[in-house]
Amino acid sequence: MDKGHGDQGGSNPSAPPPPHAPPPYEDFGQGQFGAEMKPPNHEVFDPVPPTMGFVDPPPAGAMPMPPEPEATPIVILDPPPPPYSECVLNVDCPTSEEEVKAAMLNFYKGDCCFDPKTVDGFFIHEITQMHAFRYVLDTFIETRTLEEMTEPYRNQQIDGPQNGPSPDKWAVFVNPPQEFVTKAKSVMDLPRSANVIPCNKCHSTGFTACNSCNGMGFSRCTWCSGSGRRDKTGAPGEYENCSSCNGMGRNNCTWCQLGRIQCRTCSGHRFLKVWQSLTIRWKTEGKVHETQRGELKPKHLKKAKCGEMLSSTKSTPQNPQPLNCSLDRNILTASTQLIGEQLQKQNMNSRVLQFRQSIGVIPVVKVIYQFKNKEGHFYVFGNTRLVYFPGGYPGGCACCCCSIM
Ligand SMILES: [Zn+2]
Ligand SMILES: [Zn+2]
Ligand SMILES: [Zn+2]
Repeated sequence: MDKGHGDQGGSNPSAPPPPHAPPPYEDFGQGQFGAEMKPPNHEVFDPVPPTMGFVDPPPAGAMPMPPEPEATPIVILDPPPPPYSECVLNVDCPTSEEEVKAAMLNFYKGDCCFDPKTVDGFFIHEITQMHAFRYVLDTFIETRTLEEMTEPYRNQQIDGPQNGPSPDKWAVFVNPPQEFVTKAKSVMDLPRSANVIPCNKCHSTGFTACNSCNGMGFSRCTWCSGSGRRDKTGAPGEYENCSSCNGMGRNNCTWCQLGRIQCRTCSGHRFLKVWQSLTIRWKTEGKVHETQRGELKPKHLKKAKCGEMLSSTKSTPQNPQPLNCSLDRNILTASTQLIGEQLQKQNMNSRVLQFRQSIGVIPVVKVIYQFKNKEGHFYVFGNTRLVYFPGGYPGGCACCCCSIM
């Protein structure tokens, strides 16, 4: 802002009135906004509104600071033991021939190629439990972006440098509406970022040249082609004044006055308020890992519903604490890798606020069977007891497009 604008007062007709200084932030009290201060425009997809206020500067440690390259290594210092007792794996899975056959009948029912009678031909030799685990990493992420805004200056409140320097976008204290909210957004003005500047579009005159008449204020009369006279009706060779332009040869422009129209940028106010608008977005990203069990690959396991939840913990990006599970050593590797990937994605506009990790049990049994003198195996897995025959269902029908084969 030109320093002269604030103190020229009414003496200089080209200067705007001095901006009204808002009360200092301390006067706003706990989380209260000044009467003229626009409340932030929240667009929240969860019902709980964010709490916000300004803290200048924010107390150290009260909020995560912008990501620093060297500040976010993953340090695994003896991962804590899993917070559950491995002995008490309470998994609901089929344990008898009857239960296995019931799972097959239920899984294939409705499939036109499936003949329920074939189930009777199965002899079940062995049922072995080999449960799988689903590791889920939820990453709660906040992004902050600034956008320059302008509007005509109409003597509105100007929260600008006269109140102190504008804070860094990450130093504005705004709480998310809810931890691990799926999606939420909040828009507010960046404190002390406003200024009043002359309108460039109209050179601070409030008017621009009319496009219709090129700023002339009139246009050539189309009725008489600008001559001001027309052939007299019924008297060839004689002329009379053009009735459209009264003999002037031109008409006043209907779009403007004297060739000028009001400036659309400043709406004729000659000055603009410019400020930084701060948009804060929250989202939760989910990453899943399942370790292969026999021929059951992650693509099979991901269709299964979990049974019991073994563990759910929250941690900060400063101390993410990858999860360890003694029943599935791959989980620690996956956890470390997924957390690392999420931390890598942080940048000046985006940071991780919190991690939430959980491990769920996917019940899996491997069933060794004999069918028509041939031995084989299949799996019953998931809380809803899905069935997977690695080599296709042996008792299926002979149609060419059998979907259960
Ligand atoms: Zn015009
Ligand atoms: Zn005319
Ligand atoms: Zn203007």
